[in-house]
Amino acid sequence: MTMNSVTEPVKRNFDNLLDFDKKGLEAYFSKIGEKPFRAKQLLKWLYQAGVTDFDEMTDLSKSLRTYLKEHCMINFPEIVFEKVATDGTVKWVLKMACGNRVETVFIPEEKRGTLCVSSQVGCALACSFCSTAQQGFNRNLTTAEIIGQLWVANHRLGDESRITNVVMMGMGEPLLNFDNTVKAVNLMLDDCAYGLSKRRVTVSTSGVVPAMYRLSAACDVSVAVSLHAPNDVLRNELVPINQKYPLAQLMEACQDVVKHSPRGFITFEYVMLDGVNDTFSDARALVKLLKNVPCKMNLIPFNPFPNSGYECSKASAIEAFRRILHKAGIITTVRKTRGEDIDAACGQLVGKVADKSRRQVKLAKNRVNVELLSG
Ligand code: SAH
Repeated sequence: MTMNSVTEPVKRNFDNLLDFDKKGLEAYFSKIGEKPFRAKQLLKWLYQAGVTDFDEMTDLSKSLRTYLKEHCMINFPEIVFEKVATDGTVKWVLKMACGNRVETVFIPEEKRGTLCVSSQVGCALACSFCSTAQQGFNRNLTTAEIIGQLWVANHRLGDESRITNVVMMGMGEPLLNFDNTVKAVNLMLDDCAYGLSKRRVTVSTSGVVPAMYRLSAACDVSVAVSLHAPNDVLRNELVPINQKYPLAQLMEACQDVVKHSPRGFITFEYVMLDGVNDTFSDARALVKLLKNVPCKMNLIPFNPFPNSGYECSKASAIEAFRRILHKAGIITTVRKTRGEDIDAACGQLVGKVADKSRRQVKLAKNRVNVELLSG
């Protein structure tokens, strides 16, 4: 397999085959008079053999190969930057159509390799502690651009560093790009494509409640919820989508997720912000909130970025917080920060976003105002 296909120019009016999951490909093939099993064959060539030259797809009929050559393309994101951190974490900056850039991160561990995948160019949500949020929002990624991140990473890593886990915790809110996220997740799980275990593919959401119900119905995948606060007042400030879908609604949706979960529980993420959400009383309120929710808690030390206005909680505060949850029977882990020296840690992914939300303009104005006041 060559890298040429990665940089192949987008052909107008050609269908990108990476935009289809199995069901989509079956429908596509039946429209052109082909049998549905062709979809399985093609998926295996694309995702398992990594073959992108139609002439090499020897079990497809000659006429189908000719059709594909004349109407279809296999177009991946282009790597514009690759950096390996001292701990082995790899960050790629990928150029998408129209020049937008997003980031994908591979985190190797002893027994697994996790790929952190982006779902949007920027993010439309304005979580106050996240640097992607400050970049504003441009557009949803296509299915091809989401699954293409796995293809590119697999290709670059070779056989040794196998991707065993995928977390949709890169740039963007996956549930606000619902259809493409579901199709890409289908390809991650499909035995004819990447064949990953449903326990090892996680969609992380800030709490888009109606889409959480739709996700449970649409596919069998693990779900993580970015909680970050034990009460509505604080969560409204940290995760503003809470103003639309407050905690009571979110907790009900979490129960639904648990019911459908391949693992029988839901994972919560909680970023540790010094003096903001990390006190004893926050921990106790959290225990109360989660009393009836089968869950695991992942405490994430805050990763700083310029002008965030936040600091990471002290190690002792994180440990005390963890202990309170643990004593209440909640399995609680503290996430190890990885790839810090290459800005690949949670909330540090910024890509390059042609912002359409005007958030960057608003933030810049606010900063000037603050400087004027304090100067
Ligand atoms: N929009 C989705 C997925 C992207 S964020 C979501 O909100 O879940 C992935 C995780 O990183 C989320 O839990 C997010 O809250 C967390 N995160 C964002 N900024 C961070 C920062 N600066 N430090 C630590 N974690 C952060």
